Amino acid sequence: MNRLDPHDAPDGVFPLHDAGAATALVGRSGEFRADTLEQAFGWARLAETVRHSSWLLIASAILNTLFFISDWRFHGTSQFWIAIPARAMIVLASLGCLLVLRRRCSPRSVQQVMAWWTGITALGVAALVSSHSELALFVMLLLPMIFYLGVPLPFAWLSGCSVVASALLLLGYEAHHADDGSVIGLGLALATLNVCLMLVVARANRFQRLEWHATRIARDIADELEISREKLEKLFAAAPVPMVVTRCDDGRILQVNDNCAEMFGISPGMIGNESFERFYADPKDRLRLMTRLQRDGEVADFEVQARCGDGKQRTVMVKASIVEMAAGRIVIAGIIDISDRKAVELSLEWLASTDPLTKLPNRLSFFSTARAEMMRAARLARPLALLMIDLDHFKAINDTWGHQAGDMALRAFGTLCIEQLRGTDIIGRVGGEEFGILLPDTSGEDAIDIAERLCTALSAVRLPEPNEALRMSASIGLTVIQRGDRDLDAALARADRALYAAKRNGRNRVHFDPVDFTPPPTLRVAN
Ligand code: GH3
Ligand code: MG
Ligand code: MG
Repeated sequence: MNRLDPHDAPDGVFPLHDAGAATALVGRSGEFRADTLEQAFGWARLAETVRHSSWLLIASAILNTLFFISDWRFHGTSQFWIAIPARAMIVLASLGCLLVLRRRCSPRSVQQVMAWWTGITALGVAALVSSHSELALFVMLLLPMIFYLGVPLPFAWLSGCSVVASALLLLGYEAHHADDGSVIGLGLALATLNVCLMLVVARANRFQRLEWHATRIARDIADELEISREKLEKLFAAAPVPMVVTRCDDGRILQVNDNCAEMFGISPGMIGNESFERFYADPKDRLRLMTRLQRDGEVADFEVQARCGDGKQRTVMVKASIVEMAAGRIVIAGIIDISDRKAVELSLEWLASTDPLTKLPNRLSFFSTARAEMMRAARLARPLALLMIDLDHFKAINDTWGHQAGDMALRAFGTLCIEQLRGTDIIGRVGGEEFGILLPDTSGEDAIDIAERLCTALSAVRLPEPNEALRMSASIGLTVIQRGDRDLDAALARADRALYAAKRNGRNRVHFDPVDFTPPPTLRVAN
């Protein structure tokens, strides 16, 4: 473990982010007003502080050792016995503090060591300057500068130590020359120097802290962005729905999640090189999707046929949005396979509209188709014939041959209708043994022929053994949809009336509503 790693700081030393904290500096010192922030700053710069302090102590030890040469000039004088021990004290203090410094691992302990060194050095130099030499004068001015610019102490400690040191130096310098009037001037010069250096240090403190805080905020924002990006990527990859990111202009695939890669068989080599357009069963669908996206910015329910990796086509629902990026516009799309849902919907639709016995359209479906056909015929001015059919004496058939045989007979009638009629004709089971038929583009005369053909064919229908002797006949009421028919009900009423007439006239026959027709109202079907 690196002993100077800021992460070793005790819990709670590093402050939370505070947008206004950077400006919360003490004007006098340039330090953070918040103690926690100041501590965090100290921890962040700990390694650098230790390094710089070490250099200062090493330089002090070496240079003061060299100063012994200079101090030798006092040999033989009383000053010699002051200078040599003072110099030795400074050298030993520097070496001692250097040793202790190496073992320290918090800003506060480093500051304590350097405060000791400052004090001892100030005492030593105060003794040295008592020589009152020109060099001593220079050193008196130099030492506060070294303290202010080189010693990493809090502003209050630093200015306090330097002021006390300056006073000691002044005392030392003037110790044997009390009558010298220069003491006031020198004192004022030292005071001026201290004030100037305090201003310099305060300004340096301010810049350092602002820069540190700004860097810290920028780093934290970058970290948060990175975390969000990672989260987004994980979310994208883990999404249970296939997702794809494509370029807006050419549809080039930029990113897919695992689900999407699996569904469409997208290999890593295709990403960035191929367009997603190839997965549309009809490439025009991409144009349709993009037109809607460009217009609305997002699309929530775009249903499309997709060509999947296994070669099969599937109905998918696309939910997509356009996103503006620095590198251009992209489309983020989620793709939901709704083929199974569609199949269920279709089968439900079929069940809801189909008669389970004959597999013909049921009453609801037949009448809704009839309404649509009626409107189409009116729009195109084409004739449309409507037949209502009721099997004769069906109750008796059931009673004689059994219900199952009755069912078989109903199915056989349905099959017969399909065989006898065109693909465009519409047949439906509208009741128990009642059927409806719509004959588009068919005139009244033609419809009569068809209805009679049906009756004739029905008389020839034979069920398999043991019901081969069962015979069926039907009564058919016929009408044509006329221009004056406002809705289907009027035509149905006419067809029902005609059917009732066919029954009343003896069954096994076709009767048509006489409104528009010249032929005789009732035709007997020849057996
Ligand atoms: P009509 O000639 O006057 O039409 O006499 P009908 O007996 O055919 O008429 P009715 O309305 O009296 O009886 C209709 C019969 O059709 C009664 C009913 O049991 C039978 N039926 C209705 N639906 C089914 C079915 O799904 N299967 C079978 N086997 N019979 C059915
Ligand atoms: Mg009936
Ligand atoms: Mg009947």
